[in-house]
Amino acid sequence: MSNNQIQLVCPSCETATLFNVHTGQAQNNTVCPKCKKAFVAWPVRVRAKNSRQDKRANTRAYSVRVIDVNGGQHLIEFQQKGIADFELRAGDQAVFSYVNNKLLMVQNLTVGRHLNLKSGCSVMTLIICGIVLLLLISICALASLLKTHL
Ligand SMILES: [Zn+2]
Repeated sequence: MSNNQIQLVCPSCETATLFNVHTGQAQNNTVCPKCKKAFVAWPVRVRAKNSRQDKRANTRAYSVRVIDVNGGQHLIEFQQKGIADFELRAGDQAVFSYVNNKLLMVQNLTVGRHLNLKSGCSVMTLIICGIVLLLLISICALASLLKTHL
């Protein structure tokens, strides 16, 4: 089979780089030239997509039927943060990228879009929790200080 130059987006640092992807190979082990992290890129063709939003949890769940380079059919299920619908139409060329067997990046090469599934807001959530906690502690300290002075 042939080698194809595909613009792959690194699931770790989101840098787009041209990679030689073996389209005759089901999964490609690649290393990002920028952050040097290894990931597995899986080029497929979309057959069908179903997605369901959960407004309360602010997530969207996908189940995507794909055909790999050898003609095998697979069902890929994943969940994203936010309810915006990611475009994956029947016949679209897509790449699913994995780090440590975890799906982190979905790319639609046909429309040139990508979806990052990394839960990047966990650090942000921690910081916000820390600030709230600090505020609460200082309010309590202030209140007790006022009490002793009055
Ligand atoms: Zn990278």
